[in-house]
Parts: sequence; structure tokens; C-alpha cells
Amino acid sequence: MAFSLIPDYVFNDYTALTPAFLRAQGIRLLLSDLDYTLAPKSQKEPDAALRTWTESLRAGGVTLAIISNNRSPVRVERFCGGLGISYIGHAGKPGTRGIVEAIRKHGVPASETAMLGDKLLTDTLAAKRGGIRMLMVEPKGGPVGAWNHVLHGMQEPFKRACRQDMRR
Ligand SMILES: [Mg+2]
Repeated sequence: MAFSLIPDYVFNDYTALTPAFLRAQGIRLLLSDLDYTLAPKSQKEPDAALRTWTESLRAGGVTLAIISNNRSPVRVERFCGGLGISYIGHAGKPGTRGIVEAIRKHGVPASETAMLGDKLLTDTLAAKRGGIRMLMVEPKGGPVGAWNHVLHGMQEPFKRACRQDMRR
């Protein structure tokens, strides 16, 4: 099956994803990566901005859930417990197990589900293979270390090719 690695939208930051925008896109279930998407890895728990955003989605009728490749559940559980949302750990992105499981669990069709993440070869590839829309963000707190600078540089042409680049 053919699929593309080009995200549907690119944003500077998750806070640009308002309930009004998601509703206009017909997105009722938002599956999000955690590290560098909602918080830099150095951040141990949800900050005020993340709590406010999560609450605004809930009030706007959008379900948020975390799909993480994190090996240890401790970090993901601390975030999700603090935000009152569910998660699927060991998701094995770019495999689609996490996406399929979340869609089944929340009873929302793939056509009304989107993935939010910062990486092309895990988050975006998983979303595209899973047949859901992909919303990409710049890495929260910026790329960390030489490899991540290279990686994010390599991702840039794919992000520029997206349907709508909302970074400008
Ligand atoms: Mg990430």
C-alpha cells in the first residue's frame, strides 16, 4: 500500500491547535506523541500551558490521548495522570498498533482521528500507515544534541511540502 511521508499541517507549537481548528477539520480524537511534542524530555510533568490546552480540548469536545514509544511507563503515567487523559505506551511507532488500539478504545473512526508529533520516521510514518491525518510540530524546546539537529534538518523538506505550513 502506498503512503506518503508528508504531514497534512505543520505548526510551531501544539498550542496553535485550538478546539475550533480541530473541529473545523472534523477531528474528534487527537493522538499525541509526548517527548518534544508536548514537553521537552527534561520536563518531568505537565506545565500550566499544557494543562490549560488539555482542558480547552476537553471543553471543546476533542479527546486527547498519548501514544508513546517510551519504554518506561513512569514518565508517561506522570503526564497522563496529571492531565487526566489516557495513554498507550510501548506503541512501537512507526508501527500502527498504538493508533489502531486508540481508535478502537475511543470508538472514533480513523477519518475523525489525527496524530500530533515532532518526528517523521516514527509519528508521521505511523499516522500515514494508520490512515489518519498528521499534524507536525517543531520540537518543543528545540532539537537536543547533534543528531537531533541533523534529524530535524532532514525532516524540513517534508514539512515544507505539507498541505499547509502554519509556521509563518
Ligand atoms: Mg517526540
